[in-house]
Amino acid sequence: AISVRNVWVEFGDQVVIENLNLEIASGSFVSVVGPSGCGKSTFLRMVLGQDRPTRGALLLDGRPLRDEPDADRGVVFQRYSVFPHMTVLANVVAGYEFAQSPLLGRLFGRAKRQAVEKAEELIEAVGLAAHRHKYPLALSGGMQQRLAIAQALAKDPKILLLDEPFGALDPGTRAQMHALLKPLWARLGMTVIMVTHDLREAFGLGTRVVAFDKVRHDPQAPGRFGARVTYDLDLTREGPVPV
Ligand code: ATP
Ligand code: MG
Repeated sequence: AISVRNVWVEFGDQVVIENLNLEIASGSFVSVVGPSGCGKSTFLRMVLGQDRPTRGALLLDGRPLRDEPDADRGVVFQRYSVFPHMTVLANVVAGYEFAQSPLLGRLFGRAKRQAVEKAEELIEAVGLAAHRHKYPLALSGGMQQRLAIAQALAKDPKILLLDEPFGALDPGTRAQMHALLKPLWARLGMTVIMVTHDLREAFGLGTRVVAFDKVRHDPQAPGRFGARVTYDLDLTREGPVPV
C-alpha cells in the first residue's frame, strides 16, 4: 500500500498540498480528478520521488518511499514521455535496461538479448509490433502513448503513474487506450494512479476516484492553498461504471 500521512508540499511560501492523507491499496486503480492547479501533478511527482514532501510521511508498504528503487515506479505524461531519438524497440529496451542496471543504463550479451525479447513482448501487447523500428515522431499520438505505456511497464513497476495520459487524444483513440490499459492493469496487478480531467475515464477505469480541490485556507496569506480531498469513492463496492 501507498500511505500518504499528513503530507505537505510547499514551494517557498506557497502551499500546494496541505495535510493530505490517503491510503492506497496495492493493486488498486486510483483516478485523481480536480480543477487545474489544485496539485494533482505535484502529487504524482511526489509519489514518483521528484517533489519531496516538506512535511509528513510517504510510505510504500510501510517503508519510506524515497528509499525504494526508482524502477518500482513507471510514469506516463500527456506528452513527451519517450526518447525521440530512439526507435520504438530501443525505447522499451531502455526501460528494461534502466530497471536492471540503473547506474549503467545498458545491458550487454545475454542480458541484452533477454531485454530485447521482453521488449518485443510488451510492444506486441500494446499493439505496436508492426512499428517497432520506427521513431516516435513517425507515430500517431495514440501510438506514442502506447509506446510510453510499454516503456513504463518495461520496468515491471509496482506503481504506474499516469498524468493525463490520454488528454491529447481524440475520443476514439482514447477508447482504444482504455481498452488496452484496463486489461493490462488487471493482468499485471500493479497499482495505478491516474490523473485525468475526464470523469468518464476516471470512473470507467478506476476502482476508486479521489477528487482534490484547491481551498484557500487563509485570505490573509494568498499563497496558501492546499490540495485537499473533497470526495473519495470506492467503486469496488458499487461495481465498475462502463466507459
Ligand atoms: P493541471 O490540471 O492544470 O495539470 P495540477 O492539478 O496538475 O493542474 P500542479 O501542476 O500540481 O496542478 O500545480 C499546483 C500548483 O503548484 C500550481 O499553482 C503550480 O504553480 C504550483 N507548482 C507546481 N510545481 C511547482 C514548483 N516546482 N515551484 C513552484 N510552484 C509549483
Ligand atoms: Mg497537472
